Amino acid sequence: MTIDPRPMELRLEQQDQHIVPTRHLPPVDTTPSPKTPKMERTIDAFTKQVFGRCRTDSIKEATCVSCGVSVKEFKDAISRKEFTISGLCQSCQDGVFDSPPQ
Ligand SMILES: [Zn+2]
Repeated sequence: MTIDPRPMELRLEQQDQHIVPTRHLPPVDTTPSPKTPKMERTIDAFTKQVFGRCRTDSIKEATCVSCGVSVKEFKDAISRKEFTISGLCQSCQDGVFDSPPQ
């Protein structure tokens, strides 16, 4: 058994800090970004063919259009916004947008 040498207040504080970010995460925005009807049909047809899912349905159901996971959180506001545009979860966004290792 290891003994934590820090005072009790400090340990509690650290626990709180660990809880706060998850408690205050904004809910996933399930409103697809506006597109012209023709554009929406084109994108939905495309994602249906490639991923087997409609972009608009995926966003409304808070699931990833690409991998189908239930979308719960994003690392930042930009990624959160991106979901309403592309319908991609955080890990799929990372796969698409992160630059390859040098
Ligand atoms: Zn995904």
